[in-house]
Formats: sequence, C-alpha cells, structure tokens
Amino acid sequence: MAIRRVVKDGDPTLRKKSRKIEKIDQRLITLIEDMIETMYDANGVGLAAPQVGILKRVIVIDIGDGIIELINPEIMKESGEQTDVEGCLSVPGVNGDVSRPQKVKVRGLDRKGNMVEIEGEDLLARAFCHEIDHLEGILFTDKVIK
Ligand code: ZN
Repeated sequence: MAIRRVVKDGDPTLRKKSRKIEKIDQRLITLIEDMIETMYDANGVGLAAPQVGILKRVIVIDIGDGIIELINPEIMKESGEQTDVEGCLSVPGVNGDVSRPQKVKVRGLDRKGNMVEIEGEDLLARAFCHEIDHLEGILFTDKVIK
C-alpha cells in the first residue's frame, strides 16, 4: 500500500465525472488500498478516487465504525434532512454548513464484485453524499449554505 497525493481544489480532475468500473482487477484493489491508507494518513472520514487523481467510481469511508469501500456507489433512497458542518481533504482549511439527507440507502459493489446495500444515518449519510458528489465533480463548497 502507498499514500497517494491528495488533489486540491483548483485541479480540473475534481470537476470531472468519474467513470463506472467495468472490471475489478488487481489495479483497482491496489487503488482502493492506497485510498484507505491515504484517508487514514490524512485523518479523513472519507475519500473518493478523483481526490487521488483517478476518475473511477470508487469511495472509501470510515466514520469510526470500520472501513466501508464501495465500487460504483449509487444512492437508491434518501429521506429527511440534516444540516451540519463539512470539510474536505481536497479543500484544506475550509468548513461550511451543508444540508444533506438524514438517511440514505446506498448500493454498490464490494471488491469481490458482490452487490451490497448499506443504510447510513447522520454522519454516515453525510459522508456517502459527500463522497458520491465527488464522483460527479461536485464539491461541498458548491452546496455550502453559510
Ligand atoms: Zn471531499
């Protein structure tokens, strides 16, 4: 595993749409493992592949309950609303309030290619929305309300 350089706001990579993953190979597994190491090294709670310069639909999250890794993640269902402060490893030193669903149901693939569904509330729901936004080229600063 290796720590990768985190791409910062202003780099055009962060504004591009990531590609769907068609094949899970060793190269992808290495990317996922590097993303996990990079996220922990930076004390982040989530990281999306474009943040390490790779336009592939992969996210990793750990809000303190263990690692979640998802390939081609999609939000299937969302409910409620919450507003809280957010930050991003790609936008250092900036925080702001963002409104997100209180609860989401997310579907994606694990590294073995199995379909998994995860329900997240509160911080986990926020993390899913924030990381999946990265795959669309959206930053939290686009959504800050104050
Ligand atoms: Zn981010």
